Amino acid sequence: MKRVVVLGGGIGGTTVANRIRKALEGEVASGQVQVQLVDREGVHAYQPGYLMVVFEKMRPEETRRDESLLLHKSIQLVKGEVEKVDGAANKIVLKGGKDLPYDILVIASGSVIHPELTPGFVEGAHSFYDLENAQKLRGALHGFTGGKIVISVAGMPYKCPVAPLEVTFMLDDYLRNRGIRDKCEIHYTYPIPKVFGIDTVAQPMQRLMGERGITVHIPFNVDKIDPAAKSMKSVEGDTLPYDLLIAIPPHRGADFVGASGLGDKGNWIPTDRYSLKADGRENIFVLGDATNIPISKAGSTADYEAEVVTQNVASMVRGEAPTARYEGRVYCWIMTGLAQATYIKFDYLHPPHPPTPSFAHYWNKVIYNRTYWDLTARALF
Ligand SMILES: Cc1cc2nc3c(=O)[nH]c(=O)nc-3n(C[C@H](O)[C@H](O)[C@H](O)COP(=O)(O)OP(=O)(O)OC[C@H]3O[C@@H](n4cnc5c(N)ncnc54)[C@H](O)[C@@H]3O)c2cc1C
Repeated sequence: MKRVVVLGGGIGGTTVANRIRKALEGEVASGQVQVQLVDREGVHAYQPGYLMVVFEKMRPEETRRDESLLLHKSIQLVKGEVEKVDGAANKIVLKGGKDLPYDILVIASGSVIHPELTPGFVEGAHSFYDLENAQKLRGALHGFTGGKIVISVAGMPYKCPVAPLEVTFMLDDYLRNRGIRDKCEIHYTYPIPKVFGIDTVAQPMQRLMGERGITVHIPFNVDKIDPAAKSMKSVEGDTLPYDLLIAIPPHRGADFVGASGLGDKGNWIPTDRYSLKADGRENIFVLGDATNIPISKAGSTADYEAEVVTQNVASMVRGEAPTARYEGRVYCWIMTGLAQATYIKFDYLHPPHPPTPSFAHYWNKVIYNRTYWDLTARALF
């Protein structure tokens, strides 16, 4: 029997486990292949929902599902914290000493937020990158009656690169709806000399910020936050005071990656951008935020990568060469207000050209959020 183990029950891990099971349906049914998924909590978090929670477009409980309800019944769910991957012995070591052997391993362990890496962040900044902080920010915005709101990114790379743009535009609409926009200033800072990493997106987004009266500070690399003075200092030497700070925390790969000798200094796993194999490993694939591939860390990236990993895993199980290639496909909506959006669609060779924001694009995002659990996570389409 061949064991395929998927590490991580988030967007990438859940969909890839279900797809592999489907691609190898006969082999799984006859007991030639076993698919297992190991996850720390056994609870699946739909993180794109956190931004919606801030603006009361989703309820907190709508962002979470029990992992066992999303996996096909033939996939074994193993709840446990992975301590390390022992590549030489083809096994995962779980905290508490249990081993999980594999023939093929798929790592989808995501990224970890580290607000403590920026001095003053924990005490001085609001964030929406986990459910608890998204709810706190929602409360803080409720109580906000006027002043200076700063949106900032405290380190790259971070997941969902468009999220700082989205929170900025949604906030602008939110303050207008409450009739207090004229009592507020919105300031947007970004670590590079443009408002987004891709030129064809940065230009229209910066234009939109100009139209909405949003002040831009670029480049602005956050050095430290002073919660008592309510101000933020940049590596470039600028000081920016705020009444309310919304910041994206620094990100790193999962700790076990370093402990397994699989990662770079940020614990991202060096991965072939086409085959999605971990560098130098024949039977380990990586997808989603965990890779070091210089492409958006996004749920849609993980979803497209899952198609490729599924084909390659199925080929290997059948003794064929894994030839499927990931061409860098990404698709992300960008909320440009509370009820309008645009989208970006691109790959390694073709940059995105976001269309004019509209209600229709927003509505497509709403539909996607509602169908996510069946179409993406359960891989039913
Ligand atoms: C506010 C916000 C908005 C976003 N909006 C969008 C959007 O609109 N569109 C989009 O495409 N993307 C969006 N994203 C990004 C998207 O959520 C991530 O890129 C995506 O979840 C990555 O999927 P993943 O499977 O790689 O990792 P994750 O979904 O983070 O899953 C990783 C899993 O691995 C498990 N794990 C990690 N380490 C261990 C361990 N040691 N032992 C056991 N289990 C472990 C974790 O518990 C987790 O279940 C957003 C993210 C945020 C925070």
